[in-house]
Amino acid sequence: MAKIQMKTPLVEMDGDEMTRVIWQMLKDKLILPFVDLKSEYYDLGLEKRNATDDQITVDSAEATKKYGVAVKCATITPNAARMDEYKLKEMWKSPNGTIRAILDGTVFRQPILVKGITPYIPTWTKPICIARHAYGDVYKNTEMIVKEGSKAELCVTDKDGNESRQLIHSFDNSDGIIQGMHNLDNSIASFARACFNYALDQKKDVWFATKDTISKKYDHTFKDIFAEIFENEYKAKFDEAGIEYFYTLIDDAVARVVRSDGGYIWACKNYDGDVMSDMIATAFGSLAMMTSVLVSPTGVYEYEAAHGTVQRHYYKHLKGEETSTNSVATIFAWSGALRKRGELDEIPELVDFADKLEKATIDTIESGIMTGDLYLLSTLENKKKVNTEEFLDAIHDKLTEIVA
Ligand code: NAP
Ligand code: MG
Repeated sequence: MAKIQMKTPLVEMDGDEMTRVIWQMLKDKLILPFVDLKSEYYDLGLEKRNATDDQITVDSAEATKKYGVAVKCATITPNAARMDEYKLKEMWKSPNGTIRAILDGTVFRQPILVKGITPYIPTWTKPICIARHAYGDVYKNTEMIVKEGSKAELCVTDKDGNESRQLIHSFDNSDGIIQGMHNLDNSIASFARACFNYALDQKKDVWFATKDTISKKYDHTFKDIFAEIFENEYKAKFDEAGIEYFYTLIDDAVARVVRSDGGYIWACKNYDGDVMSDMIATAFGSLAMMTSVLVSPTGVYEYEAAHGTVQRHYYKHLKGEETSTNSVATIFAWSGALRKRGELDEIPELVDFADKLEKATIDTIESGIMTGDLYLLSTLENKKKVNTEEFLDAIHDKLTEIVA
């Protein structure tokens, strides 16, 4: 069978530990036999990042800007233990943080559903996709402990030196605490555009919620910027695509999400997204079934799994012990990236291959062949636990049948 030809290269970002092991196996078994892969390879493994003073991460993000589509393996974010383990020159920053900052992107996370694994909320029959605003608010705050008898004020000095002040609180009868935080109109606007663009790409509704009734300036600004950008730039396109933008209060949104059947993009402020994405991941079953895509306001896409490098399994693997690590989210990162490349370059066979790769993966699990994490959750009667490599082999066999 002739392999599918590509036009523009895919930016390929390799990573660390167990996911690095899976990366190579996955390419060998599920991609290279079917696609004449054109990729620009960047090794974001921690050793290479250390050797290049992390320049490799910056280069990979710049290449993503240039070509428009990337697929990324999970990477180690160094901490004190990793400094010793890898003899690092510096505690390099999270590659995801660096890439997100360069692309000014928003992260969308979505679970992959399979028969036999019922979400904790069984009415959620379609995935809920969470978009988290990844700038500001409590994550870039300033906090102080305040002593009784103090008066706390907000003070802003404008560019001409004029001060405006507002009382936060007079701490007359008690010690207390204060917190200052901010956001930027530009960042909120980028977030809104990324959400609306991705909704058009996915043909899904967008829900957005804040506490604007209580926070009449701060949260209300989020609501206003979303509304203005939607009206001016997206309303007509949404009408044409048959999708909707829906705004409500955050507490109402939570109630509606619980009662819903899923299938929409839920845009969240930074803190809401932090909390709700963990809630959604847990409710749908397994972190190993969560996909993640970073979308820039200019329409650049970087696909990855939401989980980390699965360090515990890697140490077992190094000792020669058998592992049963789930590669589904990493497979869907590849299928997502290949599909997007196929759409942009008008290669229908590549789009079709991405669909078939996902189908082969889901069919394999629904036929009862799965890794240990899913084996614990699945209610299928004929389920069978396989190891890391056997799982990929089973998908390879299924895929070979489907593409034939
Ligand atoms: P993790 O890699 O997500 O794994 C945590 C646990 O979740 C695993 O020990 C395993 O549970 C389960 N798990 C996660 N993915 C799985 C999979 N594909 N198949 C089966 N089980 C899976 O998180 P971590 O161990 O806390 O972090 C390891 C490294 O990943 C850290 O250095 C961190 O910096 C990095 N990280 C990177 C990213 C990224 O690049 N996007 C994201 C998060 C973390 P059991 O052990 O119970 O089987
Ligand atoms: Mg969280």
